[in-house]
Amino acid sequence: MTNNQKLKKIFYDFDRADFTEFAAKYNWQKFRVNQLLEWQEKSVQSTAEMTNLSKEMRQILEQEMFWPALKIIKIEHSHLEPVNKYLFELQDGNRIETVSMHYDYGHSVCLTTQVGCKMGCDFCASAKLGFIRNLSAGEMLAQITMISREEKSRVSHAVLMGIGEPLDNYLETVKFLRNLRSEDGYSMSMRNITISTCGLVPQIRKLAEENLPITLAISLHAADQAVREKLMLIAKRYPVQEIIEAADYYFAKTGRRVTYEYTLFDKINDQREHAEQLVELLKGKPVHINLISANEVPGSIWTRSSTIAIQNFLKILQKNKLNATVRYSAGQDITAACGQLRRQTY
Ligand code: SF4
Repeated sequence: MTNNQKLKKIFYDFDRADFTEFAAKYNWQKFRVNQLLEWQEKSVQSTAEMTNLSKEMRQILEQEMFWPALKIIKIEHSHLEPVNKYLFELQDGNRIETVSMHYDYGHSVCLTTQVGCKMGCDFCASAKLGFIRNLSAGEMLAQITMISREEKSRVSHAVLMGIGEPLDNYLETVKFLRNLRSEDGYSMSMRNITISTCGLVPQIRKLAEENLPITLAISLHAADQAVREKLMLIAKRYPVQEIIEAADYYFAKTGRRVTYEYTLFDKINDQREHAEQLVELLKGKPVHINLISANEVPGSIWTRSSTIAIQNFLKILQKNKLNATVRYSAGQDITAACGQLRRQTY
């Protein structure tokens, strides 16, 4: 199938309103809508499983939608920690990856929102693959239901931090979040959801108005505009100061403390002066800073900071009463950085 062909909807693209319209089209009784939503909640992956629907109804669902929503191509299991990476195939043959992580506090999935990415961060494996298309809301939800089903464990937390920039796929991302929260559907608490953005200012402000109290994580990576521009193409469009103002607005509207992600690269953004610039930018704000040890992309000029450099950076932030922690990427032994699993299979 080519990318120009019209894609069929998948079962997880439908919410109550969509199922109501669908049922009316085929003269199905209203209670069928609840049954369809219950099947969605049970993470159904084929029409054959929907045993309370007639054969004729199942045939209609089979014809009108694409099944299964996602096909599992490969699963890699970490030997170091309870982390699994999935490579899924979509109906048009494109492939995406999703990471499942089991923590003491619950089962978390890091999901993909686009096939590829157009933001062009220089250090990122996904950026090297270019942009192909946006995922639908259903393709996002299906990553969660498929993993719940496969691992026989209900996913309790979601992070939109896989391949793609979620706010560049704004409408489908917001529809997905609403479906994920809906009591009709998966009913995940908004407090358990984190969305990561490279700093799309207009969309951050728009998201603040959506009444979705999710955690916003901003990939800052540098407090200095010139350093940030070296790392991230998008930095040229939205200056650091505008991003901070949009983040402050998000906090004011939602009451959710913003997280800043700061990936450390050797001698690029990990020196004392860089930490002091970050202190200057965020001092006194109710924020959290995640310092991240970089995943090195083969062939890239960006290399990981030493453990000592990371610890020194952290000390400067903490000395200035900024709330900060260091995060090491999960699943280091199973093709670490975002986009790497997908890249290996091409
Ligand atoms: S880091 Fe995120 S926003 Fe930047 S290119 Fe990679 S996937 Fe896109």
